[in-house]
Amino acid sequence: MKIRQALISLSNKNRAREFAQGLAAYGVRLLSTGGTAKMLRDAGLEVTEVGDYTGFPEMLDGRVKTLHPKVHGGILARRDLPEHLATIEEHGIPAIDLVCVNLYPFRETIAKPDVTLAEAIENIDIGGPAMVRSAAKNYAGVAVVTDPEDYPALLSEMASNGGGLSAATRFALAKKAFVHTARYDAAIANWLTSLDESEQAKPFPERLQLAFDRGETLRYGENPHQQAAFYRDPEPVAGSIANYRQLQGKELSYNNIADADAAWECVKTFDTPACVIVKHANPCGVAISADLLSAYEKAFQTDSTSAFGGIIAFNGTVDADVIVAMNSRKHFVEVLLAPGFTAAARELLSGKQNLRVLELPLAKVYHDFEMKRIGGGLLLQTPDRFNVQASDLRVVSALVPSASQIENLLFAYRVAKFVKSNAIVFCGHGMTLGVGAGQMSRVDSTRIAVSKAQNACLELAGSVVASDAFFPFRDGIDVLAAAGAKAVIQPGGSMRDEEVIAAANEHGLTMVFTGARHFRH
Ligand code: 5GP
Repeated sequence: MKIRQALISLSNKNRAREFAQGLAAYGVRLLSTGGTAKMLRDAGLEVTEVGDYTGFPEMLDGRVKTLHPKVHGGILARRDLPEHLATIEEHGIPAIDLVCVNLYPFRETIAKPDVTLAEAIENIDIGGPAMVRSAAKNYAGVAVVTDPEDYPALLSEMASNGGGLSAATRFALAKKAFVHTARYDAAIANWLTSLDESEQAKPFPERLQLAFDRGETLRYGENPHQQAAFYRDPEPVAGSIANYRQLQGKELSYNNIADADAAWECVKTFDTPACVIVKHANPCGVAISADLLSAYEKAFQTDSTSAFGGIIAFNGTVDADVIVAMNSRKHFVEVLLAPGFTAAARELLSGKQNLRVLELPLAKVYHDFEMKRIGGGLLLQTPDRFNVQASDLRVVSALVPSASQIENLLFAYRVAKFVKSNAIVFCGHGMTLGVGAGQMSRVDSTRIAVSKAQNACLELAGSVVASDAFFPFRDGIDVLAAAGAKAVIQPGGSMRDEEVIAAANEHGLTMVFTGARHFRH
């Protein structure tokens, strides 16, 4: 379909000049609204202003510019229906074959802290979305361009296509156009409905924008009989798993991505070299150390049985020594992720073509909310951004923790935050020694953590223990004390805190309260 006439009306005028010049070079006649026309004319292009074209001036402060049958008739007429063509001919309406529009900056306007309702209302584009929707509906005969990123590819397609755009391209552009207007209207609806009586916008959860880009279709979901896809944030925050670049290996599965996310979110919270090994969304080995190699060795030691087939994340550049250490342990890994890999590490990894290796930028930035689909709706919450500091701790036992105990308690509590509840984490020397996860009772998680440490032949004498929520009874304390633990960190707040603290004192344990729990389901 050859493009003869284009209408260009843009708020974001980036790159528009080059695009319009490209169109003009193919002999396309240009129609444009006030501001856009001026810009194009200044660039030396020949442009007809829409007001001159329709015989109606832009009016009402720009509220009515392009809302005219000569514009919409030219866009909407079906090219395959002789009656339509006859009608526009009869009314002297030339066809418009390409519509290049982006909308008033509503989102940018409401992002300003001092925005008023009146200002926001004036930034609701009316004619722009109308043209975008007209052109997208009639993609069979019209190309609709809403994203400046597309300009170069469209011009090169025209170059190789005799000044036309293919049906497939027009269809792809139409899909994008409807996403553009749907997001735009969603932003308006979300913002307006978040306003309180005094026209102030309330923050999350009243003001929420659910909008995701269709990403990869995944082979299947958690199980082969489930279908799945990865929908991404339009602009994923820095440091999120969605920013991965796959360097090698098989296609990522649903479970790979979910577990890689769990490992990544955990490893990125540490300020020292750290390694996190995840299985089924739970860390089965976490360690911090002076370097990544020893962090890996410690993390692997926690539970080498579970580490088999796990996901490993590092928070620094992985070098060849780490890969050699993995190879020498015959550590089978599903996914390896890190902010970088040395050339020598890449070289060694290239020998394992099935291993999925992901590189992604590290940043301590968190997404705005988490969601969980439940019957009949979505549960939304802000992420658990709370990180307990030494100054938050309240010693409740007769014994006071040493500096190294405090360090290990804080590490253990940080790990517990990433373990499914009920979480019990034994630690020592900057590594996990036993992890009890996902049990329905805290004492069972404690027993499991102890038996895991024993299976790995790890010494629990002198260890520290973190519990993601309070101990409801003293039984868990009895179990961990019998295993040799010497210090406990937990939120406190149980109606039986007295009993639990008394048990700690009886066993000669140090106990600190954090005041904040880390449930994770
Ligand atoms: P310009 O800077 O060219 O004067 O204006 C471009 C903007 O006007 C674009 O964002 C476009 O979507 C918008 N626009 C085009 N026609 C109309 C209209 O009839 N009414 C309103 N409210 N906006 C329009």
